[in-house]
Amino acid sequence: MKRMAKRDYYEVLGVERGASESELKKAYRRLAMKYHPDRNPDDKSAEEQFKEANEAYEVLSDASKRAAYDQYGHAGVDPSMGGGGAGFGGGGASFSDIFGDVFSDFFGGARGGSRGGAQRGSDLRYTLELDLEEAVRGTTVTIRVPTLVACKTCDGSGAKKGTAPVTCTTCGGIGQVRMQQGFFSVQQTCPRCHGTGKMIADPCGTCHGQGRVEEHKTLSVKVPAGVDTGDRIRLSGEGEAGTLGGPPGDLYVVVNVREHPIFQRDGKHLYCEVPISFADAALGGELEVPTLDGRVKLKIPEATQTGKLFRLRGKGVAPVRGGGAGDLMCRVAVETPVNLDKRQRELLEEFRRTLQSDGSHSPKASNWFEGMKRFFGDL
Ligand SMILES: [Zn+2]
Ligand SMILES: [Zn+2]
Repeated sequence: MKRMAKRDYYEVLGVERGASESELKKAYRRLAMKYHPDRNPDDKSAEEQFKEANEAYEVLSDASKRAAYDQYGHAGVDPSMGGGGAGFGGGGASFSDIFGDVFSDFFGGARGGSRGGAQRGSDLRYTLELDLEEAVRGTTVTIRVPTLVACKTCDGSGAKKGTAPVTCTTCGGIGQVRMQQGFFSVQQTCPRCHGTGKMIADPCGTCHGQGRVEEHKTLSVKVPAGVDTGDRIRLSGEGEAGTLGGPPGDLYVVVNVREHPIFQRDGKHLYCEVPISFADAALGGELEVPTLDGRVKLKIPEATQTGKLFRLRGKGVAPVRGGGAGDLMCRVAVETPVNLDKRQRELLEEFRRTLQSDGSHSPKASNWFEGMKRFFGDL
């Protein structure tokens, strides 16, 4: 089943190159629903399209693979990453991750139902909380995840040592049974063997015939610099063990960046608010502002208004997908002085008396008053 030259992944999914993660997911979901083999039995071309969409989504939904693909094309991601071969879902995109119970309703959990009874293990999702600093600089974290691993007693077969699973007597090893529902004949996953086509006559005592046991795994995850909330890191083969010796699923580590007390992040740019005194705003001055690499000095010109943004180039975040670092935007907020003593009050009173009534010191206010006068005049 060799395909011709591979199509562009974005073209396969029918999305723009800059498509967001949710756009990709939506496009993929639509195609997967349309071409899913359970809906197109014995349709080779649907099967091909399904695989193609799977492959495209697998690459584009993975931040680092997408970056490699954007830069080098198929050559950057190809080395047939365990995909294809063993039926759908086998090595394919994170099926259960995306569809969850939507698909298990439709297809009775028979997704991936490959021959021989072995099924690929489920993908797992782990939410990794990071501080902004860690996300920006990258880090290596150790996580502990509960998962199902192959039972050592029976080597994952589920059958007692010395015995082997036998062909399911309900479905005759097909894994599917036909049921009559009204006018329709519906194909369903075999309720006895759950689609595996095998059943265990003499179950293993350790795993009670499941072939898998629950265990906590400790994994080291390398988080690349520049990740943001929603980015996913795929740990291939670290998901749940497959059944009956099937391949394991993948573990998706989903990044969630905690709120920072000073900086707000928007993609590669950072924002922060810097309070400045009324006097500094009026006369100009030099401020110390925070950046992720420490404090820097920022010159404020005279007559700076509240809300004014000062851009510190390159002091933002270098995105994980490549490209230059973003900027740090400092928004100044003029703080009205409080707790004035007698002398300060006098100075301000005196200052107030010096203000011209023609509005030359406060163009914004005089414009506003002009507008208001016109407004009421027009009524
Ligand atoms: Zn069966
Ligand atoms: Zn066992």
